[in-house]
Amino acid sequence: MVTPRVGVLALQGDVREHVRALTLAGAEAVLVRRPEEVEAVDALVLPGGESTTIDRLSRVFGLREPVRRRIAEGMPVYGSCAGMILLADRVLDGHRDQQTLGGLDITVRRNAFGRQVDSFECDLSVSGLPDDHGQPYRAVFIRAPWVEQVGAGVEVLATVEHGGTSHVVAVRQGSLLATSFHPEMTEDHRVHAFFVDLVRAQSGSRSDDNGEGHR
Ligand code: GLN
Repeated sequence: MVTPRVGVLALQGDVREHVRALTLAGAEAVLVRRPEEVEAVDALVLPGGESTTIDRLSRVFGLREPVRRRIAEGMPVYGSCAGMILLADRVLDGHRDQQTLGGLDITVRRNAFGRQVDSFECDLSVSGLPDDHGQPYRAVFIRAPWVEQVGAGVEVLATVEHGGTSHVVAVRQGSLLATSFHPEMTEDHRVHAFFVDLVRAQSGSRSDDNGEGHR
């Protein structure tokens, strides 16, 4: 598979920014709004936005179960900010009725950085990025969650210092990737390139398994 087809869940949030970043990272980016569109992608991005709204709309439009099934089957998914919350198995400070899609064995705290620093930028070291010649990653945080607890199979890719403590802000568990920050809002596309590489690797091994052709 040379060009993976990566869907962006297009219910609410910064969908266009992800489409652009994915395209620049070498994927074919398509919008996903209907259940049948979930079946037609190799991977999915859950954008930044408002996790309570995306959760509600995903149920209204019948997307929740198809997405959960594909996650369980191993489809690669990347969630940024609200997308990280949606991908988490457990959420703290969520809305009363809030559900997540789940799949990633982490506990996130929603709006964790507090009012004074609703939004900020900082330089991070993110493990495993392609073409990483040691340059820091300029990360944009907007009313971001952090990860309070990670399961045994979860790799921590980046942390940030806040209030004298180090907090986890990027994780990977197999083909699931999540960041508290918004790489789609900057011109540094290394996180999207990392995800697209992961999708290619996963699809390559799947093609070997079942004899599917390459696209
Ligand atoms: N605070 C938002 C939420 O709970 C996430 C913010 C974002 O995606 N920038 O969903």
